[in-house]
Amino acid sequence: MTTIADRLINAQYRIAQAAQSSSRHADDIQLLAVSKTKPHTDIIAAYIAGQRHFGENYVQEGEAKVTALKSSCPNIVWHFIGPLQSNKTKIVASLFDWMHTLSRDKIALRLNDQRPNGLVPLNVCIQINISKEPSKSGVTADDMLALAEVINLLPNLTLRGLMAIPTATSEVTQQQAEFKQLHHLYLQLQQVYPDVDTLSMGMSNDLEQAVAHGSTMVRIGSAIFGQRVPLHI
Ligand SMILES: *Cc1c(COP(=O)(O)O)cnc(C)c1O
Repeated sequence: MTTIADRLINAQYRIAQAAQSSSRHADDIQLLAVSKTKPHTDIIAAYIAGQRHFGENYVQEGEAKVTALKSSCPNIVWHFIGPLQSNKTKIVASLFDWMHTLSRDKIALRLNDQRPNGLVPLNVCIQINISKEPSKSGVTADDMLALAEVINLLPNLTLRGLMAIPTATSEVTQQQAEFKQLHHLYLQLQQVYPDVDTLSMGMSNDLEQAVAHGSTMVRIGSAIFGQRVPLHI
C-alpha cells in the first residue's frame, strides 16, 4: 500500500530530479500540498511526515480545517489558492498566511483592511490569466503591474509573486510556451519589486515542466493525497 508519506517522498523526488535537470537547487522549490476535499486525517498524516505548507481552495472548508488543526498541527503554513469572493475575504485575511489568487484591487483592499492587528502581513501572489480564456480568473499580463502597484501600497499585504493555472493540455509545446511566458512576467515583476521571490506554478501532472521554467512553488494535490471525488457536480 502506498501511504501519504510515500507519495510525499515521491513528489519531493520528482522536484529534485526536475531541479537537477535544469541545474537548479531543489531547496529553491517549495512543495505546497493541496489538501482540498481531503479529510483532516490526511493533512495530519502529511504533517507527521514533515509537510508544512498546505493549500485549500474553498473558504468554508479551509476555515474548518485551519480551526480544527490549530492545536494538533501548530506549524502549518496555510495557503488559499481558490477563487475568492469579496464577501469572504475576512476569513482568508484572518486565518491564512498566503493568498495566491489575487486579481482585483477591491479584494486587495479588503484583505488589507481585514488583516487582524498583530499578524504579519498576508503574503499574496497575483494570479495571471495566461491563456486569456474568459472563463478563467486572473489578470492579463498588461494589468499585472497596475495591480502590483496597489498591493505595494498596502501595509498589511506583502507582494510575493505570481500564480497561474495554465491551460490543461497534453500539448507540450503550448504548455511550455505558457510557462515560459509566466517566467518572463515573473522576471519583469522582479525588476520593479526586487523582493518578489515566488512563482507559483506546476501541479501533479506538469510539475517537471514548471520547474524547468523557473517555478519556485509547485501546488501538488492528487499526487500526494490521491484522486479527488468532485465536491460540486
Ligand atoms: C486542485 C488544485 C491544485 C492541485 O492539482 P493536482 O492536479 O491535484 O495536483 C493546484 N492548484 C490549484 C489552484 C488547484 O485548484
